[in-house]
Amino acid sequence: MDQATVADDLEKILVTKEQIDERLAGMAARISADYEGRDLLLVGVLKGAVMVMADLVRALDRHVEMDWMAVSSYGSGTKSSGVVRILKDLDKDISGLHVLVVEDIIDSGLTLSWLLANLRSRGPASIEVAALLRKPDAAKVDVDVRYVGFEIPDEFVVGYGLDYAERYRNLPFVGTLAPHVYR
Ligand code: 5GP
Ligand code: MG
Ligand code: MG
Repeated sequence: MDQATVADDLEKILVTKEQIDERLAGMAARISADYEGRDLLLVGVLKGAVMVMADLVRALDRHVEMDWMAVSSYGSGTKSSGVVRILKDLDKDISGLHVLVVEDIIDSGLTLSWLLANLRSRGPASIEVAALLRKPDAAKVDVDVRYVGFEIPDEFVVGYGLDYAERYRNLPFVGTLAPHVYR
């Protein structure tokens, strides 16, 4: 699978690598200011949030800890089912900690609202969310996302951590796929 093949699969680029870098730097500055003087644990949601986490923490000029969860919500299709299953739980207890959940994208918001309820039940000192992308549908569910990178149209996107059938996560930008890919 060479690069030419990947490029052939793309329809358009929605958010460039440069835009992502610039936006994450801004989010990191806000996070640094908001959590000044407090310990901070970033919880990444695998696998989609790997790129956001990696670039966000390197833009943060402060100490942070990282932990990871893996949940399944989508099955093999492209619509959220609302059924969430923990595939990998956190390594550590989060009671009394300031937790910032790092997400790739908020679509229906179903996965996130389930995850937040689950994490809140563990007694963190605070819990907030940082997501690179949010679709308009997310407004329908009552999830308060403090740090949002980009509002994007209601289209299925890939790249920068986001997959279609486990592919395209390694693209350095966010884009849409050409129709032939889905056939
Ligand atoms: P939600 O429960 O908010 O509808 O979606 C949860 C998860 O579905 C996201 O964390 C992400 O993994 C996946 N997802 C939602 N929208 C998209 C999309 O446009 N592209 C890809 N690749 N995954 C998505
Ligand atoms: Mg996610
Ligand atoms: Mg996926």
